[in-house]
Amino acid sequence: MTATRFRIVPRDINAHLFEVSCTIDDPDAAGQIYRLPTWVPGSYLIREFARHVVSVAAQTPSGEVSVRKISKDAWQAAACTGPLTFTATIYAFDTSVRGAYLDATRGFFVGACVFVCPDGRALQPCELELVAPSHDLGQAWRVATSMPRQDAPEGGFGLYRAADYDELIDHPVEMGTFDLISFDAGSVRHDIAVSGRHHGDLERFARDLQRVCQSQIDLFGGRPGSRAPVDHYVFQLLALGEGYGGLEHRASTSLICARNNLPAPGATAVDDGYRTLLGLASHEYFHTWNVKRIKPAAFVPYDLATEAYTRQLWAFEGITSYYDDLMLLRSGVISQRDYLELVGRAISAVLRTPGRHVQSIAESSFDAWLKYYRQDENSPNAVVSYYVKGSLVALALDLVLRLDAHATLDDVMRALWQRFGQRDVGVDEDSIEAVASELAGRDLGPFFADYVSGTRELPLADLFREFGIELKLRASRDERDRGGKAIERNLPKVWLGMRMAPGNEVRVKNVLADGPAQRAGVAAGDTIVSLDGLRASPERIEHLCRTRLPGECISVLAFRRDELMSFELVLKQAPNDACWLVPDEKRTAEVLARRAAWLGG
Ligand code: ZN
Repeated sequence: MTATRFRIVPRDINAHLFEVSCTIDDPDAAGQIYRLPTWVPGSYLIREFARHVVSVAAQTPSGEVSVRKISKDAWQAAACTGPLTFTATIYAFDTSVRGAYLDATRGFFVGACVFVCPDGRALQPCELELVAPSHDLGQAWRVATSMPRQDAPEGGFGLYRAADYDELIDHPVEMGTFDLISFDAGSVRHDIAVSGRHHGDLERFARDLQRVCQSQIDLFGGRPGSRAPVDHYVFQLLALGEGYGGLEHRASTSLICARNNLPAPGATAVDDGYRTLLGLASHEYFHTWNVKRIKPAAFVPYDLATEAYTRQLWAFEGITSYYDDLMLLRSGVISQRDYLELVGRAISAVLRTPGRHVQSIAESSFDAWLKYYRQDENSPNAVVSYYVKGSLVALALDLVLRLDAHATLDDVMRALWQRFGQRDVGVDEDSIEAVASELAGRDLGPFFADYVSGTRELPLADLFREFGIELKLRASRDERDRGGKAIERNLPKVWLGMRMAPGNEVRVKNVLADGPAQRAGVAAGDTIVSLDGLRASPERIEHLCRTRLPGECISVLAFRRDELMSFELVLKQAPNDACWLVPDEKRTAEVLARRAAWLGG
């Protein structure tokens, strides 16, 4: 079988244009069709990558061939004899991990944005020629990708290969003058390529990440010192002033972090920012198993022309979110106290989401394309995160398994890995429940019906008690309070039931279901100008919430568009939606042993 030959050239860095061509020897006699994906695996939104295609052309050795666009994401060349080269010029100025980017500082692309798939060729092997940019700065550029090299120096431009189109688009490419640091985990080299301006201590980052990766490899391998499921792994990290994001691939991940989240030279503590970065890297690495190899049947194979529906994203994102921080604890990178703070924050985030009463995590998974990825001012009332609530369902499932079966969620993950991931078999919609029930030795159908397909509140306080941990609740101090910690003073007594957009103006971002603001008629987007006759400010609202009492009324003036409106709000007691967790050392030895088995020491 002849390979489909791709070539990508950073054609014009100041216009942010890549020139991407695709050559096949024996085009379809009826006129070869080429398609660009509408979404990228791992990010469940129709993104229409074809909108960044500026121009296309086709060529054979005997001359130019006409090309006609036949749908939003497809082109057809006129009938001809090969070899036929289809070339697209693609605008690339998206800094996100799911786009393509090119300027004088760096180039990046995830293949779904730039490589067309010729109809009928998805399973053919692919070659990719990465061409170095011709500008002066480009002479110093290197390449960081997990794509196997065919004829290219290590870290250099040249010829790469992929077994098929699916693999071709699953090895994003970073090019530029990034910093590079490597470590071994699971007997395999792992590279970290850091782009963007930063002063982080990369040696320390590599040391910490090594421990996290080895812990995950050991979890799935079932014993210490297991081997990684890949031959080479690459973390592509872009440090920016502000930013957060990650996208998983089969042997790499692309990450974005705030540059201040990298550990500062000389620092030894794990601060909040660094913990966030480690959690993100841990999360994406866990996907190497959970979603890249253990994957929903609906993704085998991926249909990148249209939505791929599954009710299981909670398992692939939620279980991964449970393990991302847990693996930081298990590998000794963070303390138990830090870990419990992160779980407390996750519980707080879910408690602040009225949408948990109306949407299950199974529904949230199914509707990710419409709702989770397209959030608006009403999302807190209508949507629950299959990441955050999914992580709490995973936690509850782990505790239930540990309590009555002496099994753990680790056992479930290993079983899924051995039965599905290692065998390249998609996970059916009911397989996870079946595997968990089998390992529990009892039917977990009611658990899944209540907490996965249903919206029943998780019995976390009761479960934690069996593990010597007390779940505590209080009111949130202000909008910056994420929970996770005890705060005793200056807590608000009342609540308005709305969230504000950041800034000095008092602009309503969300009006929460059944709160005082919604009952009074305040709407998202309103700009509040006065409260009880005094000029509104974020500070005045905080002061009011600390000093007034439930049942009292306040008058509010607000602009909706340019129309002044007045409202009477009846204040309600501030909800206890900030959670923190406290180890209780006065429990029985049995309970404390259970906790130690779960969280260590
Ligand atoms: Zn994820």
